[in-house]
Amino acid sequence: MSAAPASTVVLDDRFSRELPEMAVRWQAADAPDPRLLALNEPLAAELGLDASWLRSADGLAFLVGSAVPSGANPVAQAYSGHQFGGFVPRLGDGRALLMGELVDVDERLRDLHLKGSGRTPFARGGDGLAAVGPMLREYVISESMHALGIPTTRSLAVTATGRAVQRDALLPGAVLARIASSHLRVGSFQFAAATGDLDLVRRLADHAIARHYPEAAQAAQPYLALFESVVAAQASLVARWMLVGFIHGVMNTDNMTISGETIDYGPCAFMEAYDPATVYSSIDHAGRYAYANQPVVAQWNLARLAETLLPLIADDQQRAIDLAVASLGRFSAAYDDAFSAGMRTKLGLPAGDGDDDALVADLLVQLEQSHVDYTSFFRSLGAAARGDDEPARGLFVDLARFDAWLARWHALAPDAAAMDRVNPLYIPRNHLVENALAAATSNDLGPFTRLLDAITSPYDERPGLEQYTAPAPDDFGPYQTFCGT
Ligand code: AMP
Ligand code: MG
Repeated sequence: MSAAPASTVVLDDRFSRELPEMAVRWQAADAPDPRLLALNEPLAAELGLDASWLRSADGLAFLVGSAVPSGANPVAQAYSGHQFGGFVPRLGDGRALLMGELVDVDERLRDLHLKGSGRTPFARGGDGLAAVGPMLREYVISESMHALGIPTTRSLAVTATGRAVQRDALLPGAVLARIASSHLRVGSFQFAAATGDLDLVRRLADHAIARHYPEAAQAAQPYLALFESVVAAQASLVARWMLVGFIHGVMNTDNMTISGETIDYGPCAFMEAYDPATVYSSIDHAGRYAYANQPVVAQWNLARLAETLLPLIADDQQRAIDLAVASLGRFSAAYDDAFSAGMRTKLGLPAGDGDDDALVADLLVQLEQSHVDYTSFFRSLGAAARGDDEPARGLFVDLARFDAWLARWHALAPDAAAMDRVNPLYIPRNHLVENALAAATSNDLGPFTRLLDAITSPYDERPGLEQYTAPAPDDFGPYQTFCGT
């Protein structure tokens, strides 16, 4: 086996070169006894990294940040954020580092970022560390999102550090190696704007345009075009979340990317029984980040982004506001179009019939009334499209109403095969995730590995995986996930 030294990995430091005011040179804490818990070999190949090297002692040192490729300059990134609506001017990477950017085999620039790599100057009261459970949680949920075709940061590896982390109990610590098209957030722009240095905001905007929306540079109004691109990317992203029943849980402005990738999997989960008011985060008492509120919050966050860009959009403030408001106004139509088109596909219907919106609205009311499991419902409807209505009918309390709906839907001649290509069978269900993380924390990676295998091919029915398709048993109780992970 070729054991390439870390020095053969080329990491650029473009972010810290172009935006030094937003980067603090820093070094990861050492890991006393690194042990690989999960390695994403297909992703490693995409990045041009040799999986057998990553598994070696040198590779592990690279994955926890104790060995830094020569020429690389790891930094903690500065950002601000509205957390549950309140502005925090100085957040930043309290327990994470941007190791640098690498060019993947398709010539795309990707960030390599470590999470759980020790305290930084942004750590405030935190210990800078992460426990095995939450890092494996981010790994499995982000990889599920990727398998579902939803833009997301990726997980390259989770490495146990051999250091204990104090939470409610003493837990094994771990570092997640995360890959993203960048870690630019709405909060990054808020940080730049809060410094009052307009040149910094401009350089950040130029950096974002170059990395994510190069076509905006050619627009008559490049910074307005940047904003519109982010609005479009987020409208599409949030529609995709809604279509699979994903609840992010902490849509603070520091957890919303400029690229349109989902980021920061903390207290997130997939909804089981359909209920628009579903909240999973233990700290979200007011339901700010409830399932149905996600499009509203996304728009609120985008308004905060717009505020940071106003001085770049026009010298006259009122004119800048008018332009930004008009651009933000496109969110709703873009979101509605993406959601409606996605729902038509889930129902096996051809694109573009407005009448289907009423059909969808009626269905959602019925799903809520009967507490129907959102994910498995669409697969049972696939069976109905093949002629067997019974699995779907068995899920509803008001059968007369559902039968009327089924008749209208059957009349549209739904395409069962098309439905199976977009309606997943295997998602990381909450009880399975908890079970897998608890086992992994006690050194049994079996349930995690099997869950990961199931969700990596979410649409293809395979024998032996029946348990992954069912919602949580009643004795699992109401589900909550916790921050401070
Ligand atoms: P998050 O909720 O993961 O998006 O994090 C919000 C902020 O808290 C970010 O600035 C994180 O870097 C910081 N943070 C979260 N957990 C820790 C920790 N254990 N130690 C230091 N900073 C943390
Ligand atoms: Mg965050």
